[in-house]
Amino acid sequence: MSRPIINEEECSACGICVDACSESVIEIVGDQAEAVRDEDCTACAACMEECPMGAIEEIEED
Ligand code: SF4
Ligand code: SF4
Repeated sequence: MSRPIINEEECSACGICVDACSESVIEIVGDQAEAVRDEDCTACAACMEECPMGAIEEIEED
């Protein structure tokens, strides 16, 4: 299992990752993206690949 980690200092709140995620894991909260349903993450990496700021990385978890 893995989940996305979003670097708030690099996130521009563009919303591209929200649209890229088929599992609705990410939402814009305030002025940044947040992984609000990371338990639904399938580790597809679409959010990470689409983010123009390079603000997302995936962390492996047990
Ligand atoms: S795609 Fe990147 S910069 Fe845009 S909202 Fe998501 S994390 Fe932030
Ligand atoms: S890795 Fe895939 S499922 Fe997980 S948050 Fe990113 S786009 Fe959504």
